[in-house]
Amino acid sequence: MSNQLSDRLNRLSPSATLAMSQKSSELQAQGIDVVNMSVGEPDFPTPQHIKDAAVKAIEENWTKYSPVPGYPDLKKAIANKLKTENGLDYAPNQILVSNGAKQSVCNAIMAIVNAGDEVIIPAPYWVSYPQMVLLAEGTPVFVEAKIEQDFKITPEQLEAAITPKTRALILCSPCNPTGSVYSKEELEGLKNVLLKHERIIVIADEIYEHINYVGKHASMGEFEDLKERVVIINGVSKAYAMTGWRIGFIAAPEWIVKGCNKLQGQYTSGPCSISQKAAVAAYNGDQQCVEEMRQAFERRKDLIVKLAKEVPGLEVNNPEGAFYLFPKCSSFFGKTDGERVIKNSTDFAMYLLEVGHVATVGGDAFGAPECFRMSYATSDENIIEALRRIKEAVAKLR
Ligand code: PMP
Ligand code: GLU
Repeated sequence: MSNQLSDRLNRLSPSATLAMSQKSSELQAQGIDVVNMSVGEPDFPTPQHIKDAAVKAIEENWTKYSPVPGYPDLKKAIANKLKTENGLDYAPNQILVSNGAKQSVCNAIMAIVNAGDEVIIPAPYWVSYPQMVLLAEGTPVFVEAKIEQDFKITPEQLEAAITPKTRALILCSPCNPTGSVYSKEELEGLKNVLLKHERIIVIADEIYEHINYVGKHASMGEFEDLKERVVIINGVSKAYAMTGWRIGFIAAPEWIVKGCNKLQGQYTSGPCSISQKAAVAAYNGDQQCVEEMRQAFERRKDLIVKLAKEVPGLEVNNPEGAFYLFPKCSSFFGKTDGERVIKNSTDFAMYLLEVGHVATVGGDAFGAPECFRMSYATSDENIIEALRRIKEAVAKLR
């Protein structure tokens, strides 16, 4: 029996970030030395005190099903984090823990989007948002933010995209893939538009909150007049180098939390018990590790921006957060190395992989076909070597 997948799955694209990472691993397995800048995850090991808490959890037999929305002590630790770090009041019944922030975003979309509802997604966007909206039978509506506007949408653009069918806005700050960070004033501008449209819920993806180079993180949850329509997404993956532990959460009005609880209860049950105990240690423990990793990311950001600006033909943005560089590479479109023609950013990323042995991701998958993404969550040596190889590879294009 050949492809008889559901229409739902046939409509879905695979994750381009994970696909590129897989391709890079395959080349490495063949003995090719690839610098992998495709997938975005901290290269640091999880801090020791967090790992110790997980070992202790196993020894204390925290090995049974956990409550679907997460252990009470974790929800309390998250509520405390939201209060002390963000100044936000959320009760434990307004928090739901999931298997990574990815599931948190998907739960939220599934909970509020009906077939035919429109969901506004500023582009460039994280690859999974439109796909999740399609899974929910909604319609993604893209609002394009160019490199000239620092990849951030304006209130006027948001207003123009809203229709009676608009159900949600997915806003990611600090942003994957661009590294752009919305200031409190910029968020307020968007909020003032949203206040006029009562049906719209904001899914605020703040997973890169702590990887910020411009000061204090501003959250959509800070506006009291909008708070009852805000779903905050966050988790431990990026801040505490815990991508493999799969712990994310939403903080949201209770009716949305209840809806996600129902979905999660039928779909995955509560997240991994051991990982939750580790996450409690992450949130309640010393936060110095977060700052140390942030400083390392900032140093690497300065390095990669400097080196990328030395590559003729690239137009380089200056990221304010996250750990991605998203340069414009369209000056290479139509050029050739004599063997292949670079038609778009996916071709460009493939060229860098096959000729330069550097894995990146083409901007097409992020809704920005003129750009490509490099994750600089890797060592200084890898960054230097990758940019040397990229410079050499693009110099062959005519
Ligand atoms: N949102 C964004 C913007 C991300 O980049 C990621 C990481 N892939 C996630 C959510 C999901 O994070 P997690 O690994 O916790 O599922
Ligand atoms: N946030 C990472 C990325 O964008 C993880 C990959 C994924 O979950 O798609 O590369």
